Amino acid sequence: MKKLLISILLTALFLTGCSVSKPVEAEIFAMDTLMDVKVWGGQEDLTLVTYEIHRLESIFSAADSGSVLSQVNLSGKRELSGDLLSITRDAMALSEKTDGAFDPTVYPLVRLWGFPDDEYHVPTPEELEHTLALIGTEHIHLEENMLSMDSGTMLDFGAIAKGYTSQQCVNLLKTSGVDAALLSLGGNVQTLGIKPDGSDWAVGIAAPDSPMQPIAVFTFKGSKALVTSGGYQRFFEFDGQTYHHILDPKTGFPAENELASVTIICDNGEIADAYSTALFVMGFDKACEFWKSQADFDAVFVLKDRSIYATEGCAEMLSDCEFTVIKR
Ligand code: ADP
Ligand code: MG
Repeated sequence: MKKLLISILLTALFLTGCSVSKPVEAEIFAMDTLMDVKVWGGQEDLTLVTYEIHRLESIFSAADSGSVLSQVNLSGKRELSGDLLSITRDAMALSEKTDGAFDPTVYPLVRLWGFPDDEYHVPTPEELEHTLALIGTEHIHLEENMLSMDSGTMLDFGAIAKGYTSQQCVNLLKTSGVDAALLSLGGNVQTLGIKPDGSDWAVGIAAPDSPMQPIAVFTFKGSKALVTSGGYQRFFEFDGQTYHHILDPKTGFPAENELASVTIICDNGEIADAYSTALFVMGFDKACEFWKSQADFDAVFVLKDRSIYATEGCAEMLSDCEFTVIKR
């Protein structure tokens, strides 16, 4: 009897040992990008994450005519609830905080440039003027949970949806008792907990001119979100000129400044995602000022001349590159 008990205990220990040291893993294509999910837990935890990603995709995708957001954009008026209400409120607050550099109403501009269906087009000054009149959070009205938008204004959560999703997945995993996970949703990485083998998480920052190569590596322990935005991620060429998908809501043009990419490191995936887009639009000097005025994130800037700058809070995590530290 005693022998049986010991052997049951050993088997249980062995099985638990297996499940923590080796993650279950899935590759998912969603939100127009390839995602990789590693969970140190059971198959049911992986299913939970996969389901959540597809569920949120079916709500947030502006380019998918079957999504809930598309219906909202079509009707211009709707009572919001659940995730759509949360993301809309968050997006409006983040837009205000970043002085409109992140703007969830850019969709008419994104469409004008042809990004959703890859039917690229460089707009005429008249087209830009007409479309810019629809952009800005002053055109969306949210009273309690009732949303109404001025005619022609449309929402786009492309710059925040993956971050909202990774944060939501991490929250779900935590609730179901998972101690460690690594989510990589396109350019968005989010970690949960300490890696069971005790080693550091290692996350690369893509080199803007060869995105499969890391230009620098972050190593750290614990839960963090790391999100990169860069003009190299999606673009088209016309008449010898390159146009990318991160638009300056003030000019209507792709944001052009000295930055090649911005990586945000913070505790929240949604904030990291919105800020990475916003700081890319702001440009280096304004982005540094913004960082100095906020306490909730760190950033790494890769400039077009390939020089790298890191805010002091994350300098110790950064390796495999030369960089200058930005101090408060
Ligand atoms: P990615 O989605 O490639 O990781 P971002 O998070 O920076 O990159 O989001 C870019 C997407 O967000 C664009 O494809 C577009 O749909 C939308 N977008 C573009 N410019 C802005 C902006 N200034 N504010 C908010 N959303 C934007
Ligand atoms: Mg973003």
